[in-house]
Amino acid sequence: MDATTRAKPNVQWAIAIHGGAGAIDRGESAQLEAAYREALESVLQEGKRRLTRGESSLDVCEALVRMMEDNELFNAGKGATLTERGTVELDAAIMDGGKGGSDASEPRAGAVASVTTIKNPISLARIVMQKTPHVLLVGPGAEAFAEKAGVERVPNSYFVTERRRRQLEAELERRRKVTDAPSASKYGTVGVVALDTSGRLAAATSTGGMTGKIPGRVGDAPIIGAGTFANDVVAVSCTGTGEQFIRNSVASGIAARMRLLDEGVQEASDYYIYRVLKPKDGGLIALDFHGNVAMPYSSEGMYRGSANSEGRFEVRIWED
Ligand code: ASP
Repeated sequence: MDATTRAKPNVQWAIAIHGGAGAIDRGESAQLEAAYREALESVLQEGKRRLTRGESSLDVCEALVRMMEDNELFNAGKGATLTERGTVELDAAIMDGGKGGSDASEPRAGAVASVTTIKNPISLARIVMQKTPHVLLVGPGAEAFAEKAGVERVPNSYFVTERRRRQLEAELERRRKVTDAPSASKYGTVGVVALDTSGRLAAATSTGGMTGKIPGRVGDAPIIGAGTFANDVVAVSCTGTGEQFIRNSVASGIAARMRLLDEGVQEASDYYIYRVLKPKDGGLIALDFHGNVAMPYSSEGMYRGSANSEGRFEVRIWED
C-alpha cells in the first residue's frame, strides 16, 4: 500500500485490545470468565472515551496497557507469571507508527526487558522512546534509568500473586514428569493497537513472559518487529510462545506483506498464525490504517476486544 496515495481511513478512530492467548477453559469458572469480560469491557470503554475526545493513539495505548498492568487478572505488571525461581521479570514495548503523506514522520519505538521493580513497564518503555536515543533498555540498566527518570518502582513481591504461585508449582510439576520446555502462560499478556482521529497508528504490549522461564529470558513483546510493531500501514501486538514470534519476525512481517504484497490485514495476519506458526503458538491483534481489525489465534481462546467510531464494540474470549 502506498502511504502517500492511499485513501483516508473509513473510520474516525478504531482500537483493538488483547489480554493474552490461551484462555480459561469454557465452563471452568463462571466467576473468572465474568471478571475477564468485565475487565476487557472497562478497558475498551476507556479506549473509546479517550479516542472519541481526540487523544493520540500513543497516549491511549499507554493508558490502557497501564490499566491491564494494574489488574492482576493479566500477565503484565501485578499478577504477572513467575520465573522458575518464583520471581517476576517484565517486558514491554510501545511504538508510534508515524505518518505517511505530506506531513510524514518516522515511526518511533521504546522497550524494556527483564525489569523487576517497575510498576508500569509500558510507561518506562515510552520514556525510553521519547527521552533516549535508544530503543531497548534491559535489567539493572533499565532500573537505574527508571530511578533517574522518577518512574514509580515497587518491590518485586508487589507483582507476585497466589494464583501465579500455583501456576508455577503446576508447571514445575509438569516438567518433572514430561519435558523441560517452559509452557506459554495460559493467561494474559496484554496489548493494545489504536488508530486515532489524526490517522496515526500505535501499538503496545506488556507481559511477564512465560511461566517457569529461565531468569534473564526475554520474549517477543519488547522485540520490535517480533511481538510489537507499528508503522503508517498497520499496528500489531502479539501473544503466545514468544520464541516463535521472534524466530518468524511476525509483527513486522505482517506490515511487510501488506506493503509489498498488497495483502489485507486479515490475510497477512492469518498467514502468520495459521501457516507460519505452529498450532497453539498464540495469536495477535492487528489494526490497519483504514480501521480494519484482525484478531486471529490458534490457542484455545484469546481475551480480546475491538471498538470503532462507527459503533462497533465487542469483547470475546472464544469463538462465541
Ligand atoms: N508472548 C509472551 C512471551 O513469550 C507470552 C504470552 O503472550 O503469553 O513472553
